Amino acid sequence: MSIDLTMSALSTLVTQDLKQDADYIFYELTRSICPECRRVIDAKILLRDDKVYMHKLCPDHGSFESLVYGDAQAYVNSARFNKPGTIPLQFSTEITHGCPHDCGLCPDHQQHACVGIIEVNSACNMDCPLCFADAGAGFNLTLEEVESILDHFVAAEGNPQVVQFSGGEPSIHPQIMPMLRAAKARDIEYVMLNTNGKRIANDDEFLAELAEVRPAIYFQFDGFDSETYRIIRNEPDILSEKLRALDRLAEKGCPAILVPAIERGVNDHEVGKIIRFALEHPAVKAINFQPAFHAGRFGQHDPLQRMTNPDLIKLIEEQTDGMFQVSDFVPVPCCFPTCNSVTYAYVDGEDVLPLPRFLDVDDYLDYISNRVIPDVGAEIRKALEGLWSSSAVPGSAKLIQEFALSCAACGLPDGGLDISGLGDFMFGIMLQDFLDPWTFNQKNLMKCCKEILLPDGKQIPFCAYNNVGYREQARAQLTAQEPARNRARREGVPFQSQPLTFSFEQPFGVNGTNGKGGRG
Ligand code: SF4
Ligand code: SF4
Ligand code: SF4
Repeated sequence: MSIDLTMSALSTLVTQDLKQDADYIFYELTRSICPECRRVIDAKILLRDDKVYMHKLCPDHGSFESLVYGDAQAYVNSARFNKPGTIPLQFSTEITHGCPHDCGLCPDHQQHACVGIIEVNSACNMDCPLCFADAGAGFNLTLEEVESILDHFVAAEGNPQVVQFSGGEPSIHPQIMPMLRAAKARDIEYVMLNTNGKRIANDDEFLAELAEVRPAIYFQFDGFDSETYRIIRNEPDILSEKLRALDRLAEKGCPAILVPAIERGVNDHEVGKIIRFALEHPAVKAINFQPAFHAGRFGQHDPLQRMTNPDLIKLIEEQTDGMFQVSDFVPVPCCFPTCNSVTYAYVDGEDVLPLPRFLDVDDYLDYISNRVIPDVGAEIRKALEGLWSSSAVPGSAKLIQEFALSCAACGLPDGGLDISGLGDFMFGIMLQDFLDPWTFNQKNLMKCCKEILLPDGKQIPFCAYNNVGYREQARAQLTAQEPARNRARREGVPFQSQPLTFSFEQPFGVNGTNGKGGRG
């Protein structure tokens, strides 16, 4: 009897030993899309080896796993930086099909538009392999269409903060200057031009007009190696043109924000060099690093090896020898905090003093514990919210003011501040990791604060526009209206486009039947 009992206990033990622990922590459930057919599917967020992965299963196309964040601890901690959203004055659509098929914005959206993006054309004077807009022939919006977009934006926002003109390549649109002026005329606080810089480098008349209108220049700049530009831009010799454009902007006193797309194994070794160059160049006020966006014609990649914001931040620390450190970067609270991280530094010659080393930015922007002391604390928090915002435009008067307040709070620099020249001492580094079809997370999307503005007043969150099938459908409809647009131009009469409609019946998406992919 006793022998039998021992055997039974042993067998139970052996059976128990056969069970194994998962090699991950199941963190949360969210919704995503199938990278193949783009249907909405459940997705699990898993923590493994201090990284964050998304795992999902499409009934037709099987399972997918992708790296979404290179630092699990930072991902979990980022929840406290999630600021309550601000509701826009108007919504343009109803809740009918469910997110992400009701954009927008629909009343379920959790944030207003900090940044409105207008793609004025689809054509470009470059042919980059990395192009999520899939630039090429298609449409050129009319000035009236853009004015109508701006009016809708003002109606939804009241006082819109930032509008960014994009494309295609917006600088080659024949009416880009009147469009920039139309935005300025509506008192939109900051007007940006997103450009590859070719026209700035080569066209004196264009540069002179730019210096007059003075938009902030969002300037494509991926590094210094010829091989980088060959792979990403298909133009190995373009560097000298980019440098010339930046020098010409400096001559005119026009501020620029460098926008490097960083791809693992291509230009990830150039991060430190880009920062050192930017710190020294008189036109450059900030850098907006973006892990290469794998959408459209740059879709092919290994989703488990993609670059994420924490990976880039680690590279920044390594390649600047600690001039900027991982702890200097704080998530941006207006959107979902894992989408963007930012730091600012006070720069005086060789001295680079990142603000978070002197001021407890983490505590001020902690919306869970809300530990900030009232009075002075509230004022500093407001300034930091302005700095750590998607609508922050480096080089702008508002940002300089907010920086001044933050510097004063931490006693920078010794001997007090001269606000009049402070813009020359302020430098920002932003990181922006767009969602791709592998990492698409509805939770982030519902709080997205960067919207593509369409002629009928619809606002489509950027990561919905580029992943779900909106871009393909909008482009097809805007392109189909081009003959009518041209006719109106010939006849000298105003043109207003037809409202855009979107359908998400299966099959659709990049690999489906609704058209081609977009820019990466
Ligand atoms: S992303 Fe926002 S606007 Fe679009 S469907 Fe979802 S909640 Fe609505
Ligand atoms: S990424 Fe920009 S510059 Fe390159 S082809 Fe596309 S629109 Fe043109
Ligand atoms: S554009 Fe994409 S990555 Fe950026 S805030 Fe919106 S959802 Fe997040």
